Amino acid sequence: MKTYTTNEAFRKLFLSQNCTQLEMGYRTDTDKHSVHDWLKGRNQLRFDKLEQMANHLGKRVKIVIEDKPIHKFNNGNLATLCHKCSVIISVGFTDDLYCKECVKEQFKNK
Ligand SMILES: [Zn+2]
Repeated sequence: MKTYTTNEAFRKLFLSQNCTQLEMGYRTDTDKHSVHDWLKGRNQLRFDKLEQMANHLGKRVKIVIEDKPIHKFNNGNLATLCHKCSVIISVGFTDDLYCKECVKEQFKNK
C-alpha cells in the first residue's frame, strides 16, 4: 500500500480537484497562501487540518501506523533484519519484516 506524508496527501488531493490554488482555498475553506505553502512543502500540514479539508471535498484520509523493515549495515554490507528475532533475513534491502521462522510461528498461532 502506498502511504503519503500529510503534504503529499494534500498535493494528491489538490491534483484530484483539477483547480487553481485559489479555488482550492475556497473549496476547503482555507487561506490560499496556506495552500501554496503546503504544496511547496514549506509548512508541515497537520493531520486534523488535512482531514477537515478532505471532508470538505467528500474524501477520506486515514493514518496508517506500520512496521518498517529494519535495514542495517553489517560489515559494510546492507542487510535487512527480522523484527522479532533480529536475525539477518537477507543481504541487501527487502521489504520483508520477519524471517521465515517467525512467519511460520505466526501462522501456527492463528
Ligand atoms: Zn525472526
